[in-house]
Amino acid sequence: MDNINDFRKQAHQMVDWIADYYENIEQYPVKSQVQPGEILDELPKSAPMQAESMEAIMKDFNEIIMKGITHWQSPNFHAYFPANSSYPSILAEMLTSAVGAQCMKWETSPAATELEERVMNWLRDLMNLPKSFQGVIQDSASSATLAAIVSAREKITDFNINKKGFVQSKLRVYCSSEAHSSIEKAVKVAGIGSENLVKIQVDSSGRMIPVQLENAIKADLKKDLTPCCVVGALGTTGTVAIDPIEEIGNICREFNIWFHIDAAYAGSALILPELEYLNKGIEFADSFVFNPHKWLFTNFDCSAYYVKDKAALINTFKILPIYLKTNTDDVVNNYCDWGVQLGRRFRALKLWFVMRSFGVEGLRSKLREHLSLTNDFEDWVMKDSDFEILTPRSLNIVCFRYNPNNLHNKKEINELNKQLMDKINASGEIYLTHTKINDIFALRFVIGQTNVQSKHVEQAWHCIKKHANTYRN
Ligand code: PLP
Repeated sequence: MDNINDFRKQAHQMVDWIADYYENIEQYPVKSQVQPGEILDELPKSAPMQAESMEAIMKDFNEIIMKGITHWQSPNFHAYFPANSSYPSILAEMLTSAVGAQCMKWETSPAATELEERVMNWLRDLMNLPKSFQGVIQDSASSATLAAIVSAREKITDFNINKKGFVQSKLRVYCSSEAHSSIEKAVKVAGIGSENLVKIQVDSSGRMIPVQLENAIKADLKKDLTPCCVVGALGTTGTVAIDPIEEIGNICREFNIWFHIDAAYAGSALILPELEYLNKGIEFADSFVFNPHKWLFTNFDCSAYYVKDKAALINTFKILPIYLKTNTDDVVNNYCDWGVQLGRRFRALKLWFVMRSFGVEGLRSKLREHLSLTNDFEDWVMKDSDFEILTPRSLNIVCFRYNPNNLHNKKEINELNKQLMDKINASGEIYLTHTKINDIFALRFVIGQTNVQSKHVEQAWHCIKKHANTYRN
């Protein structure tokens, strides 16, 4: 298609397709029901030699691709953490792809760089993060955590590993046993080695035990190992447990260790003044990441990464070959120096659209609604003698299980709950996932989808109970 009039016509139709999709989204099975290889089998083995019409492409999209889509934007999606979209975010993404700017340097699109700086400062202030924090948008929390660990590695080695490779003593990174796998990935990629990731024990609520951290650091120092970075979780993936940030921060300060906070999911909650206490000790952090693409209604991908000392980050990543030199290098932010990526999408635009279109109060009221719905759901589970809550609720997640006859055989109950989860997900009515809490298989129910309302949560509870009842003798 190279004719602008054809494009205009197709684009209008596409907007209608999108609006219809959102209007009818609840009619799709939330979790795609296809089998492995099913989509592949329906796709031609080689690329078309001749141009095909948009009608033909869209027909295949509707008939082949859509059945292999899991509907993350369905209000019946309660799995993992959400990857939320919203209408203003979709509109901004249309513009982003239309202008198609590659925003690696200020000069390659000044508005992208300056808007990024502005919206990252808006968010920082809204979340009451320290004013000294400076932000950059990364593609994912995994990339941000990698940037943090590599910066910590460089800072502790006086930027020597960047130059000489690993010649020093072994570096050590610490996180809780419940921390996200992206930390282990970052430690591997950073060349530190997964054997040098020290997993610190958690308490009964899944929070890192600070004294265990301190003991581990001291033990490592005695062995001539070099503590490099501690990653604290402000919301673990399994249960949204919140590590004691202030105590961990104090330990990092005492031992002069980089303190990175992974708030990938729960960070959004910091925009609520009533949850400001979650922020306690944040000033100790050297870096902090959270994902507006999870619980702030901004399309994937958009990860907000903040650093206290931007020089450490830039010295770690900056490379300036002749073809990238510009006249403004000394006076502007060039975000390609703030992480792994050289080429960068214009991600700030969707964040700007979302923040303006919802307004701060609009964003807050959405989160509050989700928290209140989660409270209701937790109540229903607690009052039902066939179910058990497995861990104190944190924000908008409920971890529970079905245990109708108070069975005591752990393996048996775990198996029962796994079967129940698979059955619910196969029904396509809702989608939820699981975690393990002290070897107990837990159903994990998250209420954070952009368009979820009380009726959806009620339906979900009925759905869970209906399928659970089929296991009654
Ligand atoms: N950290 C936590 C606590 C998470 O829950 C997740 C993903 O769910 C991540 C990091 C990784 O996020 P991303 O997919 O943006 O890399």
